[in-house]
Amino acid sequence: MKFYIFICFFVVSLSMSAQFDKNFENHSLRLDYIHSGNSIEEYYAFKQFKKEKYWGGSHTQMLETFEYGKYFVKVFDEKSGDLIYSRGYGSLFHEWSTTKEAKEFSKSFEETALIPFPKNKVVIKLYSRNKSMNFEEKFKISFDPAKTPYEYKNDNILPVFDIHKSGNPQSKVDIVILPEGYTEMELGKFIEDCHMLTKQFFAFAPYTQNEDKFNMKAVWIPSAESGSDSPNDSIEVTTALNTSFNTLYSDRYCMTQDYHKVRDYAANAPYDQIYILINTDKYGGGAIYNYYSVSVSGNLKSPKVFIHEFGHAFAGLADEYGYEDSFENMYAKGVEPWEPNISTLVDFESKWKAMVDSKTPIPTPKNSDYSNKIGAFEGAGYVKKGVYRPRKDCMMRSFNGDVFCEVCSKAIVDMIKFYTE
Ligand SMILES: [Zn+2]
Repeated sequence: MKFYIFICFFVVSLSMSAQFDKNFENHSLRLDYIHSGNSIEEYYAFKQFKKEKYWGGSHTQMLETFEYGKYFVKVFDEKSGDLIYSRGYGSLFHEWSTTKEAKEFSKSFEETALIPFPKNKVVIKLYSRNKSMNFEEKFKISFDPAKTPYEYKNDNILPVFDIHKSGNPQSKVDIVILPEGYTEMELGKFIEDCHMLTKQFFAFAPYTQNEDKFNMKAVWIPSAESGSDSPNDSIEVTTALNTSFNTLYSDRYCMTQDYHKVRDYAANAPYDQIYILINTDKYGGGAIYNYYSVSVSGNLKSPKVFIHEFGHAFAGLADEYGYEDSFENMYAKGVEPWEPNISTLVDFESKWKAMVDSKTPIPTPKNSDYSNKIGAFEGAGYVKKGVYRPRKDCMMRSFNGDVFCEVCSKAIVDMIKFYTE
């Protein structure tokens, strides 16, 4: 019986990878565009197509079934009209568009949709969620590998180091680590920091049990100066990726707006996730779903920050705390957010309701009776009222404990399976 199941599984995955071979080459196609707008409008403008040497993604999971992310890309075969690839993602533009500034003026941000390189003519469509959380088509472009111009440099420009190797990129979660603010003299420190990050990462559940599902590679890009910009400390340095603290006016939020440069550097290795490691002791970081994660080397001593951040970028987890008022428009009232670990209780069935004990009231009181129970506790997604989280505490809320709640853990494990099975 086991053998029969194995044969079935083998045949199914073989036919799925045959689908990949029919439609795609084992390279990436990058659609670079500019996303601009304000709190009410958004515009997409094409910048360039780039072919990249590697495709680090799956050859079997071509369609994203989670439907996570504020944005979505779909690729259709032009001849048959078949949907042949899809993924969700987020961006800094979306976060900025929820700030007070976005009510005053428009701003533009670099964005990319990364897909496997098509063998035949395709139509690529980009979607953005509306206020009801439904995806609306915003941009459409054709790509014909025989006719459409694209840039292709089929060589590794930068040195790449293996930090953790467990197998073929097609069936692993591939993380590419990019150095920021490490000078020519600091290569040794960077490699040491990468090993420290990897060690700490795999010391944390549920990553510990899944160590053999990950590859980690580091690309070496020296910066002219050490550290990162920090406007509140009057620090401005010349660095490879141009990161800065005080992103969106939050001192500890450290991101870069030079996103196409980040993608250029990441392309030196096959990857699914980009991790930027900044050479500084200042506290901070940041991450957005299928965009990139940022951590500072000083955090490596307290790995909870970069493990928390990776939860956003990899598994689409939301923050489970509720005190900052700058993102007050992030989760609209009366609609269920897409993140797996928060709920407005509008459609709690679609979230973790099945994991809640039938005796636990919803919403769940924050008294000692429910300290160790899964429920729906008010206060999450940057607001104190109207958004609920699964546990009183979790890695996505505070660093008091050392664990992800059951709902976050499940979301991470489900995502690891999606990349690797
Ligand atoms: Zn959680």
